[in-house]
Amino acid sequence: MLEVPINRITTLNDDQPNMDAPYVLYWMIAFRRVNYNFSLQRAIEWANKLSKPLLIFEPMTIDYPMASIRFHKFAIEGIQDIQKQTEKSKAFYFPYVEEKKGVADKLLIELAKNAAVVITDDYPTYFVPQMTAEAKGSIQTTYELVDSNGLLPIRIAEKEYVRAHDFRRFMHKNIEDFLVEVPEQDPLEYLNLKFDEKLLEPILKKYELVDFNKVNTQDFLNNLNVDKSVEISDVVGGYNAAKLRLDLFAKKGFNDYSKLRSHPSEDASSQLSPYFHFGHISTYEVFEKIISNESWSVENIDPNFVGRREGWWGGSANLESFFDELITWRELGYHTCVKRANYDQYQSLPEWAIKTLDDHANDEREYIYDLSEFTNANTHDEIWNAAQNQLKTEGRIHNYLRMLWGKKILEWTPNPQIALSYLIDLNDRFALDGRDPNSYSGVFWILGRYDRAWGPERPIYGKIRYMTSKSTATKFNLKPYLEKYSVGSTV
Ligand SMILES: Cc1cc2nc3c(=O)[nH]c(=O)nc-3n(C[C@H](O)[C@H](O)[C@H](O)COP(=O)(O)OP(=O)(O)OC[C@H]3O[C@@H](n4cnc5c(N)ncnc54)[C@H](O)[C@@H]3O)c2cc1C
Repeated sequence: MLEVPINRITTLNDDQPNMDAPYVLYWMIAFRRVNYNFSLQRAIEWANKLSKPLLIFEPMTIDYPMASIRFHKFAIEGIQDIQKQTEKSKAFYFPYVEEKKGVADKLLIELAKNAAVVITDDYPTYFVPQMTAEAKGSIQTTYELVDSNGLLPIRIAEKEYVRAHDFRRFMHKNIEDFLVEVPEQDPLEYLNLKFDEKLLEPILKKYELVDFNKVNTQDFLNNLNVDKSVEISDVVGGYNAAKLRLDLFAKKGFNDYSKLRSHPSEDASSQLSPYFHFGHISTYEVFEKIISNESWSVENIDPNFVGRREGWWGGSANLESFFDELITWRELGYHTCVKRANYDQYQSLPEWAIKTLDDHANDEREYIYDLSEFTNANTHDEIWNAAQNQLKTEGRIHNYLRMLWGKKILEWTPNPQIALSYLIDLNDRFALDGRDPNSYSGVFWILGRYDRAWGPERPIYGKIRYMTSKSTATKFNLKPYLEKYSVGSTV
């Protein structure tokens, strides 16, 4: 097994491992998978080095911001897959879906007390960084954060990149090493010692270990005191569903990706973002699938195209276009959130954007809607309502319409600060891929982040890029989309 690269590891407590403790603990909180997972791999490295067995603890708390039955169902489907995958492994997998606030935290403290080493996931947004930092107080042994977010380690950049073009250049110049330092497909194969369940007897008397493949998920969810107004989506969570999506995309959507990815009525994009957000699949696995299908290798790279959107990978138009989203755009968001503590605040926008939005904050608005009208897709605009309806029922919006959806919220609210708060609320509350570094990329892009000033200067938008439903309707045949998602149609 290859060693986890050092630039993926941040030590939060450099105490010597507690050799009296019986196991190594992997506290799985963001990379909720066993394949291509550097955190799990690092925990296995420690377990083998110290000749200890491995305990994988995956908690799901009940009171995290925006928690709802929709996200719980998606996460539980991920747990079901891991329970099957780990059944015959030497590790002990302990998922814990909290039914009462605060119990999972207590359980972590109890498990960590008996751990020789604690490894957890290094994820840069949402409540996660604060939670992993606070846990330091309860962990009196070696404690490491491991980064398995993407192809580039999230902490290698020396500065913040404010434009995709500059980040792309940086990525092109640095990524080759990381295409070689790949996480193991199945790190559990390398684990030496089998976990003896007796080690957990006292804990399992206090905290129930649920087999999520045996309980009725619907009943379990119904009994949880979690927001049920955000209803369950038909999109199935977990590694198996992610793999199916990936296979389907590689066979079908990918072939038209560069031409049709922006077309709302086509299924040309991967629809993998919820799986990335929940950590159910690694971008390494997706990358490997695509390059193997395309017979691509690092020899294809053309250094003459450093910084260019197309050409550097030396692949097909579909590969160039897909990797630009999967790597440049996706990882730009992670890097921004690492470098910028105020990534979710209005003040983090570029100066030019704040100035132009301020200049137009008092412009007259033809339409103004409040959060409840937006939530219920109750505006005058059929396309906007359909996009919101898709978000509300399925937990996703097609990327092109997501841009239009966001621009109209800016246009139809009293000022840009209110627009921002509605955007974050609606995106994070309903989207399966919300609460992610790329939620803030997308939402803040609406208001000018990563973009440039555009002319002519317009009311409300100022120099911020402008979009209209009319031009969207002219550009694409929206009939199939509207038939599917218009308010009142059966989705
Ligand atoms: C207002 C707004 C809000 C957004 N909120 C989110 C969000 O909460 N979570 C989220 O993951 N993305 C968000 N995006 C970005 C983008 O809409 C989604 O990543 C994309 O639609 C996901 O669909 P897909 O998986 O089929 O993408 P594909 O086209 O198949 O792309 C593959 C992967 O690349 C990444 N990617 C693609 N487009 C972008 C992009 N523009 N920016 C960053 N990464 C990208 C995603 O991880 C995606 O899964 C938002 C965009 C806007 C305009």
